Amino acid sequence: MEPGAVPDRKVILGVQAHPDDIDFSSGGTIAAFVKQGHEVHYLSVTSGNKGTHDRSITPEKLTEIREAEEREASRRLGVTACYFLRWNDGELEPNLTLRAQICRVIRQVRPHTLLTFDPWRPYQLHPDHRAVGIATLDAAIAARDHLFFPEQLRDGIDIARVHEIYLFGAAEPDTWVDISDTIAMKIQAASAHVSQIGDDLTGREERTRARSRAIGEPRGLAYAEAFKVLHLN
Ligand SMILES: [Zn+2]
Repeated sequence: MEPGAVPDRKVILGVQAHPDDIDFSSGGTIAAFVKQGHEVHYLSVTSGNKGTHDRSITPEKLTEIREAEEREASRRLGVTACYFLRWNDGELEPNLTLRAQICRVIRQVRPHTLLTFDPWRPYQLHPDHRAVGIATLDAAIAARDHLFFPEQLRDGIDIARVHEIYLFGAAEPDTWVDISDTIAMKIQAASAHVSQIGDDLTGREERTRARSRAIGEPRGLAYAEAFKVLHLN
């Protein structure tokens, strides 16, 4: 392949704080990537083990439920594999330990494209969303050079170079993905997160369609998702 050329089959790694962030924000784009023949992997930093109002569920049980929901949701989108780091929900910080863990997965999965939160979105309140955005971008930079986290190379894992980063929930989107053919898949995938959305599937579908229509309309698209895309060389 020519240097800088885009491969026909790209590997894409989505990094999320909780096992639903990507499906809710970018599920139509994930399904579109898969339809185009690309290979998508998900890394969930927490398993959303505090995400309930039900006082009878333990964090351990919730981890089980939410990982199973994510496996089902991502299967509906055609995702190849899900990985879970199992940090505690709500306690993430963009520290060196987390950076190293994400770096290790980047070096193993070797994605052409990363997809994660825009950590610079103003008024982004959720600490896990901010932390994962920052830690993932920092990990992509670290993954390129052999003197960063050299213990990973001693484990037989080589450096890896990410070529583009899709930021969802972006403050300043510059890329609109047409999800007209995949919005039904996005809705299907989202509906697997039963512990998070309850049984108001119809209301949820209407809101998803309305939001995607509002994003697509100014671009002449029936339904769209918007991203800020960073290109690295
Ligand atoms: Zn989240």
